[in-house]
Amino acid sequence: MQIVSCRECGAPVNADAATCAECGALQPGRAAIEAAGYVWESRGRWMGLPLVHVAFGHDETGRARTACGIIAIGQRAVGGVAIGILAGGFVSLGVVSMGVFSLGVVSLGALVALGVNTIGAVSIGVVAVGYKVGGVATFGWKVLFSAMK
Ligand SMILES: [Zn+2]
Repeated sequence: MQIVSCRECGAPVNADAATCAECGALQPGRAAIEAAGYVWESRGRWMGLPLVHVAFGHDETGRARTACGIIAIGQRAVGGVAIGILAGGFVSLGVVSMGVFSLGVVSLGALVALGVNTIGAVSIGVVAVGYKVGGVATFGWKVLFSAMK
């Protein structure tokens, strides 16, 4: 274990520490974090947002990038149509997905949720919770279809 000073605040930290206990800087023992990943955005914009924003990896501060656009694609995606590991949008596709219309392994939909574990007004999944539900294990007011009776 080698003690060095934090790049951001100068507090003593382990050289290989993940975060600084004082200021929360990521990888504080390293002089600089190289940005990694891939970013692309369309020239076209609407209401201040790029029409398409693709963002993977992390920036030079070590923070994970978030794609934010009318169509957003990335490990974290926020937008009108969001596609990502974590996705939030009007239409949302992700491992963990939240939206008005949502599709994901864990899927929360204000109107419609589709996926494995789903919560929504209309919810269809292996485990489905909602007002109108369908799936294997369903918990809802109106059961559209269910494997368990
Ligand atoms: Zn610090």
